[in-house]
Amino acid sequence: MHTGRLDARLRSRTRRRARVAASSSDHDAGFDITPEFERFSQRDDVFSRSRRDDALRDEAADRFYSTYRRPLADWRAAKGYRQLDYAFRNATWHVADVFAEMYEDDDRRDGFLDPLSMLREGADERLDCGSPSDASTMVKHAATAMGADLVGITAYDERWTYTNRFSAATGGVKPNPLPPETSSVIVIGQAMDERLIDTAPSALSGAATGMGYSQDAVVLLALAQFLRNLGYTAIPSMNDTALAIPYAIQAGLGEYGKHGLVITPEFGTSVRFGRVFTDLPLGHDRPIRFGVEEMCQICDACSRGCPSKAIPNGAPTTERFNESNIAGIRKWTIDGEKCFGYWSKINSDCSVCVRVCPYTRDYTLRRNRAWLRLADSRLRKLALRLHERSSRGGRVQVDEWWPT
Ligand code: SF4
Ligand code: SF4
Repeated sequence: MHTGRLDARLRSRTRRRARVAASSSDHDAGFDITPEFERFSQRDDVFSRSRRDDALRDEAADRFYSTYRRPLADWRAAKGYRQLDYAFRNATWHVADVFAEMYEDDDRRDGFLDPLSMLREGADERLDCGSPSDASTMVKHAATAMGADLVGITAYDERWTYTNRFSAATGGVKPNPLPPETSSVIVIGQAMDERLIDTAPSALSGAATGMGYSQDAVVLLALAQFLRNLGYTAIPSMNDTALAIPYAIQAGLGEYGKHGLVITPEFGTSVRFGRVFTDLPLGHDRPIRFGVEEMCQICDACSRGCPSKAIPNGAPTTERFNESNIAGIRKWTIDGEKCFGYWSKINSDCSVCVRVCPYTRDYTLRRNRAWLRLADSRLRKLALRLHERSSRGGRVQVDEWWPT
């Protein structure tokens, strides 16, 4: 959850200038799909590979994962990597971990390799929720009340569904079924704590990610149970089942950035996305544009800032660094092997690219909303210069986060 949480009034103010696309076509979403396109298997995801592929599975990767179970006490004397920081980071992951570990004996990792499954049976009778547009308004209202910071809705698109799931037990694959009647995807955004992100890289900044996942799990489960109580199918999904980024873009929550993440007008890059797949007839949102693509063409803050040099500063391309990149989409692509290698080295996730991106700022402040307008105008070079001359994006010392 965001430290400077946007209320509904400010949310609509930051979003007001975003241009809504005429349709949800690939062109409007900014997707350039080539004939070489192939659906992605979760087995090729960099995290799955770190558990089965010798190119990534090594002592450092094993230690990286183990730190999420037992806080490191003596790895580094550096602030941000003390037992205190690891203890806090791991506690923020705890709720997400409880669901992930609940059915491990059955080769499930809920929320990461498999959909969240702690759900009751729903109603036998379906409630008529009115027109798709009315139903969308009702669902967004409910999701926001349950704690979602952003909600968008788009059509189900099989291209983004994993061809299969990764089996942690065998290192192979298992089926990835979705009900055939699935017609819509509700995408929720959970803002991450910007003050924690400001300390990246550190174990402490990893707490922003952990809180994002734990809050995501709670909201997704509640929202899915609500839809089931109305008599509809609902599959709550975090990292499992499908790619998050194309759905967030199609649902109108943000634009794609050079660092391979979605940038939203409300929280910049500092946001995590979850989804609920459903057959409730819903009205769909359309992709938005607010100048991110144009800004990324003149900005290189993430490429320069990335400690592992995983973010190239070039034009969008179909080039793949390795099998962890999807085939057949012309886009900005990062080298996930380098990125994960750095995470293993520092025993925590990184988030430097989130911290240094000029869009990561507190939009409850009028001056930051003014910057967003400038960034989406012909004066965007000035917006970038103003950002570069400010101290924004610099690393904040961990001591400034913990009370003395
Ligand atoms: S998370 Fe860190 S290592 Fe990975 S791409 Fe971003 S800046 Fe680079
Ligand atoms: S840091 Fe700059 S180039 Fe990278 S995603 Fe953000 S705006 Fe785009």
